[in-house]
Amino acid sequence: MLAKLRERDFRITPQRLAILKILAASRRHPSVDEIYQEVRTEFPTTSLATVYKTIALLKELNEVLELGFPDGSNRYDGSNPSPHPHAICVRCKKVMDPELVNIDALSEEMSRKTGYKIYHHRLDFFGLCPECQEKH
Ligand code: ZN
Ligand code: MN
Repeated sequence: MLAKLRERDFRITPQRLAILKILAASRRHPSVDEIYQEVRTEFPTTSLATVYKTIALLKELNEVLELGFPDGSNRYDGSNPSPHPHAICVRCKKVMDPELVNIDALSEEMSRKTGYKIYHHRLDFFGLCPECQEKH
């Protein structure tokens, strides 16, 4: 991430570095707001605009994967920016991404059956996570 940002002459401020660290380290697929809250614990003067701008650039550089949702509650994966399937809890909004086999085969089958050259994919599974099943 850092090397790519430097290539683009993106000034790496301590705030931006903290945003990068949060994104790279988190397996929880944080929202912009969660990243904002977390970075503010260390750098209280960070603006929401800085968070948005940093994420937008990382997205452009394919260093972060955006999981966009129609209601705007977008989530971000900075630990694995290549397309991969997600399981999303409809109640608590927890996002999991275990390694699945056969995703490449699925992509190839799609390409074979449509003639499309596939660049990426979006595969979301919606349901209740184990914790929410217990609460219900
Ligand atoms: Zn849940
Ligand atoms: Mn993910």
